[in-house]
Amino acid sequence: MTFDASEGLLTIDLDALAENYRTLRDRLHPGGRCGAVVKANAYGLGVEQVAPVLYREGCRHFFVATLAEGAQLRSLLPADARITLLTGVRPGHEKACTESALEPVLVTTAQIQAWVEATATGGVAAPCALKVDSGMTRLGMGAQEFAQLLRQPQLLRAANLRLFLSHLACADEPQRPQNRQQLRNFSDALARVREVCPQLEASLANSSGIYLGDDFHFDVARPGCALYGVNPTPGQSNPMRAVVNLRVPVLQVRQVERESAVGYGATQHAAAGSWLAVVRGGYADGLLRTQSGRGRGAAVIGRAVEDAAGTIEERIVVPMIGRVSMDTCVFDISALDQAQREKLRAIELLNDDLTVDDMGAAAGSIGYEILTSLGRRYGRRYL
Ligand SMILES: *Cc1c(COP(=O)(O)O)cnc(C)c1O
Repeated sequence: MTFDASEGLLTIDLDALAENYRTLRDRLHPGGRCGAVVKANAYGLGVEQVAPVLYREGCRHFFVATLAEGAQLRSLLPADARITLLTGVRPGHEKACTESALEPVLVTTAQIQAWVEATATGGVAAPCALKVDSGMTRLGMGAQEFAQLLRQPQLLRAANLRLFLSHLACADEPQRPQNRQQLRNFSDALARVREVCPQLEASLANSSGIYLGDDFHFDVARPGCALYGVNPTPGQSNPMRAVVNLRVPVLQVRQVERESAVGYGATQHAAAGSWLAVVRGGYADGLLRTQSGRGRGAAVIGRAVEDAAGTIEERIVVPMIGRVSMDTCVFDISALDQAQREKLRAIELLNDDLTVDDMGAAAGSIGYEILTSLGRRYGRRYL
């Protein structure tokens, strides 16, 4: 599929990304290192462009989800970058892992045994990571299996564990007691595994976990969403800079003569005399259909001025009306006067003020899903 700016333009601000990395890193306790999660094509923003910028900022520990993501990332980064595979390795793929120097996250004793068998030379396996479940009940070794594993110190030593990790379920809700409970469970497990592997490094915090306090930081933090502009502290002002701007073209500006139902299902009505802008951008472009009738955009109006730049742009926030279709959606631009309508250039769906968090909330979802759904039909520009 070809990228075409006339079908919408996604602008990704790599300076903002770099600044967000520095903000997170500077927040860590002394000695804490800041890794970066670049899974799912760097949350949809383009790992080819994103990973080298983070490396330049000093990041040396990257996290991806799949083997294919890891192999691609390895080709993008110098050899001193560590790459951890968050969803581990499937049986038979151990060699592919070591060929790209990827460290899989293992979660069962059987996986550890298989890793040792497949990769050990001179009795020591290739580097890997162990993840325990500290209370989220998703991927991670349970307490009982972990207790049994500790009774096999030879296996633990042969496994060549480099990182011990767990994941927080409610880090974006600091008042939840589960955060402290998970911290206690993780710290206890860490103390016990370090009796066998004293050098083992630990990692617990995702983006929001970094803001829970120093005792959540351990050796390596694993921020993802905050790098890309999602607010890691919901309900408080966002310490991150927006990274994404999305601007879509207006296909038609029209006035409705009488009250009219707009779009599929005739779910909303435009009042007689309203002005509407039909834009190029629909759910096949990642504008989640669940934001129908609730989303907002910014009408971008070009205004001629005397200075050298020639024009400046003014923005007026306008509501979406009716359901999002596959390729189009509609905004009610009645708030614009005639002169503004004539200079309407585009509708911005994401910018510094209309955030991925706002769009996520309008869609009954989260900023993460907005980012990872961003369409493949837009043109892309990296600043
Ligand atoms: C995705 C992921 C992260 C990053 O989380 P954010 O909330 O995006 O910062 C960290 N750790 C694990 C295990 C993950 O799966």
